[in-house]
Amino acid sequence: MSGLTIDADRVGQRIERLAQIGKISDTGVCRLALSPEDREAVEVVRGWMEEAGMTVRLDGFGNLIGRLPGKDPNKPAVMLGSHIDTQPYAGRFDGIIGVIGAIEVVQTLADLGVVPEVPIEVASFCDEEGCRFNKGLFGVRGILGRLEDGELERADKNGVTRREALLAFGGDPERFEESRYELGQVSVFLELHIEQGPVLETLGRPLGIVTGISGPLWWTVDLYGFAGHAGSVPMGLRKDALVGASKIVVGLQALASSEPGAPTVGTVGSMRVFPDSRNIIPEHVQFTIDLRDIDLPRRDRLERQLRELINEVAEEHGLRVEIREDTNSEPRYCAPRIVDTIREAAMEMGLKAPELMSGPFHDSLAMSYYCDYGMIFVRCKDGISHNPKEFSSLEDIALGTELLYRTTLQMCGT
Ligand SMILES: [Zn+2]
Repeated sequence: MSGLTIDADRVGQRIERLAQIGKISDTGVCRLALSPEDREAVEVVRGWMEEAGMTVRLDGFGNLIGRLPGKDPNKPAVMLGSHIDTQPYAGRFDGIIGVIGAIEVVQTLADLGVVPEVPIEVASFCDEEGCRFNKGLFGVRGILGRLEDGELERADKNGVTRREALLAFGGDPERFEESRYELGQVSVFLELHIEQGPVLETLGRPLGIVTGISGPLWWTVDLYGFAGHAGSVPMGLRKDALVGASKIVVGLQALASSEPGAPTVGTVGSMRVFPDSRNIIPEHVQFTIDLRDIDLPRRDRLERQLRELINEVAEEHGLRVEIREDTNSEPRYCAPRIVDTIREAAMEMGLKAPELMSGPFHDSLAMSYYCDYGMIFVRCKDGISHNPKEFSSLEDIALGTELLYRTTLQMCGT
């Protein structure tokens, strides 16, 4: 690969190296947060951070953080990073390219003998995925003082609590306080990540600029009808909860598609039917709703329309309805100045990078409550992620790392 400042081969070798830790198949990885595999990977990453000239620490929350002081160590830092923990049945790239890419940025500076004006920190955040203790973004929320009560007492399926796992890992709740970040310690957070969706591939573009992380609205909906014999109750007299639920599924699909080109997505991903027998009219159906959009007023409008639809369907079929709101998070927008900087840097590289929202959340979501943030997406094959088939080419990852490098230089005022 030519025209790159960063060392694509080094990036490729490091991705390969990490893929060996917790390897479950040719391309699969299982490296659960705070596991021995995660610990082993942290040591490898620590070595790379030191090689890049950073001072490295494992903080109380289990985050591995490298720091390059820059010309003025008292200035707010530019922080880069992501995570290296994985889902139980994962690929080699989710999170990992953001950590390896960030180290590559710093190592490239060191190779060129460039000292940035401000400090640069590289964070490999602890437990982004949240699959082991059922709550993610642990490390990044930790440094920002955003942990909730009882998080250390959450246990994994073997009964190991987070406190126990964290202590075994080298973290320590006693050190939480000193590991926290004060407001103003970091001015900007930048994250390189695979897209985990099909948009860039469909557009034929290697890189994308994230404009924001969409906020999910999560509901659990219960519809109550009346059970009866499937052979004898006439159609006009039925209170069939599954017919009602089906109309809502189709209606949500129509609502989420109603504005052509909008990034709105709506999903019913889980449904339970009671009593679940072929010979009984369904009496109770429980299902989930996931509605996401980067445009909150539009999402609010769709939410109102969805409520109206559910009430209409319930009335038409004689059903009682209960809606429980499980999550309602607002979209978090990337700072326009960072989006502009990334766009300009991409243009300098001869790339036209489309702007898109992120449906999944990332460490950046937590950082968005603390400082300006920006994200660069790398195209991934067929949009597959959280699966050993997850794949991004080294060419695309190298381009993404180069774009991260150039954006970082701008953000450091170098
Ligand atoms: Zn990730």
